[in-house]
Amino acid sequence: MLRPTRMEVHLGRIQENYRSIRSHVGARAQVMGVVKANAYGTGMVPVASALREAGCTRFAVATPEEALELRRCGIGDPILVMGASSADAAGELVAQDVAATVADLSFAQVLSREATRQGRPARFHLKVDTGMGRIGFLPQELPSLLPELLALGNLDFEGVFTHFATADEERLDYTWTQFRRFGDVLEELRDRGVGVRLRHACNSAALMRCPEMHLDAVRPGVILYGLRPSPGCPVPFPLSPAFEVKTSVAALRELPPGSGVSYGLRYVTRGRERLAVLPLGYRDGYVRALAGKAEVLILGHRVPVVGTICMDQCLVDVTSLPEVCVGDEVVLLGRQGDRSIEAEEMARWLGTIVYEIPGLFSERVPRVHL
Ligand code: PLP
Repeated sequence: MLRPTRMEVHLGRIQENYRSIRSHVGARAQVMGVVKANAYGTGMVPVASALREAGCTRFAVATPEEALELRRCGIGDPILVMGASSADAAGELVAQDVAATVADLSFAQVLSREATRQGRPARFHLKVDTGMGRIGFLPQELPSLLPELLALGNLDFEGVFTHFATADEERLDYTWTQFRRFGDVLEELRDRGVGVRLRHACNSAALMRCPEMHLDAVRPGVILYGLRPSPGCPVPFPLSPAFEVKTSVAALRELPPGSGVSYGLRYVTRGRERLAVLPLGYRDGYVRALAGKAEVLILGHRVPVVGTICMDQCLVDVTSLPEVCVGDEVVLLGRQGDRSIEAEEMARWLGTIVYEIPGLFSERVPRVHL
């Protein structure tokens, strides 16, 4: 690594978060580690391997590619693709024994044909839209769907699931409405004698707040990475922030008063100012919208980002820290000394949610797994 800019991913903290979830959920429900989207940007394969080491034996991803990548890297545990897969993916999913989500009948028909052709059963989880309005069958569609679905050959009906739209919001009444609708679907399956091994509904927020909804499995994502689903969401166990973004000072400048700084000269020095140049910019994911809002940590102090953030570089004002040298560590996200910059704060600067923060840092920022 010739450039110091990096994301440090603390796998031990992800394991700690997993263990906290595990003990909160208790023995009855399984924990599916949600490692989609490159484990929210922290590195899917190392994270999945660390989770396995900690005892996680089931994974959920969003796309067929993600599932196949896990298989290629030797993860042989059950994997669910939670998104809708295209017909083109069915063959590989069956061949690799990856469970697909069935959210329309034509895809189930393709899966069944593939399973027959390959002489092996195709696992699937039925997705029910109880009020998220994204993929899945509406509960009222099931009476006509189920006979057709159950008539298809070589399908292993491994699971049935739904997804909550508002479990991280203050009021839980809509989540309960969704859960009751899901309960009705489960009852209908039971009445038809359909045995489904894994009934699941909870994301991070719901599993922390609604133990009654754990069913056979829970699907935590964001809390594995040490992040609260939303600033107001109660968290019943400690979470360890699992990633930090660091770099070091590339150059130091002393500029006279009234000097314009960076593109557009939007920042003008007030007095004689000392600026540190950092080797990361918007192409690294340190987006231009952070200018004028973000701070970083140097020598344990917070200093502001000044001027327009460039593609590969940005500047911070270190006038108050005359002892800063080239090569000193800079923390953009994470802890230094007794101060920290949390993903929640960065999300606030950007007017977004913490989910976006780790993945905001581009592939140009190496993930260093510790
Ligand atoms: N289940 C499904 C279907 C999802 O789409 C997601 C993520 O968005 C999760 C579970 C995990 O959610 P969270 O990160 O809030 O735990």
